[in-house]
Amino acid sequence: MDFLRPATWEEALAAKAERPGAVPLLGGTDVMVEINLDARRPAALLDLTAVPGLNAWEHAADGRLRVGAGVTYARLIAELGDVLPGLAQAARTVGSPQIRNRGTVAGNLGAASPAGDSHPPLLAGDAVVEAESAARGTRMIPACAFYLGVKRSALAPDELIRAFWAAPASGPQYFSKVGTRNAMVIAVCSFAIALHPRERRVGTGVGSAAPTPRRAQEAERFLAGELDWTGGAPLDARVAARFGELAARAAAPIDDVRGTADYRRHAIAVMARRTLTWAYDDYRKKAAECA
Ligand SMILES: Cc1cc2nc3c(=O)[nH]c(=O)nc-3n(C[C@H](O)[C@H](O)[C@H](O)COP(=O)(O)OP(=O)(O)OC[C@H]3O[C@@H](n4cnc5c(N)ncnc54)[C@H](O)[C@@H]3O)c2cc1C
Repeated sequence: MDFLRPATWEEALAAKAERPGAVPLLGGTDVMVEINLDARRPAALLDLTAVPGLNAWEHAADGRLRVGAGVTYARLIAELGDVLPGLAQAARTVGSPQIRNRGTVAGNLGAASPAGDSHPPLLAGDAVVEAESAARGTRMIPACAFYLGVKRSALAPDELIRAFWAAPASGPQYFSKVGTRNAMVIAVCSFAIALHPRERRVGTGVGSAAPTPRRAQEAERFLAGELDWTGGAPLDARVAARFGELAARAAAPIDDVRGTADYRRHAIAVMARRTLTWAYDDYRKKAAECA
C-alpha cells in the first residue's frame, strides 16, 4: 500500500486526480478500523493531515462559518459549540474522547454512513460541503444533495472535501440519538432540529432510519406554519404530536441488529417531539427576555 503525504492542498488535489482510488485520511477513525479489520485494502492512502490550513475555521465574508476538513470534533465542541450548537451536541455523542480528538465532520461526510452523527444537524442547519478537484475547481454541495445512498455521496472520485459551511445558529438547535447504550455507540436512529426564526423556517435531519440521512420536509413545512413565532403561546401538544408523526413518516428504516424498523419510527417521533419541546422552550425564554 502506498502512503501519499501531500504537503499542500494543490499537491493533494493533484494526487487524487492522478490516483482517484487513493483513500483520503484525516482522523483515520473509520479508515484505520477498516484496514485493521481487512475490510478494505486500498492501493494508496492519501494522508491529508500535513496539509496546512485544513484544521482552521473562519468567519466568511457572508457571515457563515467555514470549517476546515481537519477540524476535529473536540475542537468543534470547544471552539464552535456556542455558534453551531446542534452539530456540537451531536459531536459530543461521537465515540469517546479519543475518537473526538481525531475524528472530523469531513471524515463523517466522506464515510457517508446513514448512521453518522453529524449528518442530521448538518441537514437541519442547511450546511454546504465545499468539495474541490484539480480538474474542475471548487463545487459547493448542499448537505441535502450530498448523500446519495448507503455510504455513497455526491463526491466524484477525483474530489476532496476541503471544508463545510454553516450559518451560526439564529435560533435553538437540538440533536437526539438513541443507541443500545449511552456512550460509544452507533445510532439506532437520531434526529436534529433547527429553528430559523428570521425566515420562520424549521430545519430537520433524520439519521440512521433510511438509506441516507434525510430531512423530514413535510414535518418542517407543517411546523413552520403552526408554530407561534412570537413565542407568546406555549407549544400546542397536538402540534408537537403531529410534528413527531410527520418526522417518523419521513423515515424509511429497516430491521437490523441495532433495532427494528417499527422501533426506529417510534423513536424518531419521540425524538422529534422532545427536541421540538426543548427548542421551543428556549425560543420562548429568549422571546420573553427580549420583550
Ligand atoms: C470506537 C469508534 C467509535 C465511533 N463512534 C462514532 C459515533 O458515535 N458516531 C459517528 O458518527 N461515528 C463514529 N465513529 C466513526 C468515525 O469516528 C466517524 O465517522 C468520524 O467522523 C470519521 O472522521 P475521521 O476524520 O476519522 O475520518 P477518516 O477515517 O480519516 O475518513 C473517513 C472517510 O472519509 C474519507 N475522507 C476523509 N477525509 C476526506 C476528505 N477531505 N475528502 C474526501 N473524503 C475524505 C475517507 O477516505 C474515509 O472514507 C466511531 C469510530 C470508532 C473507531
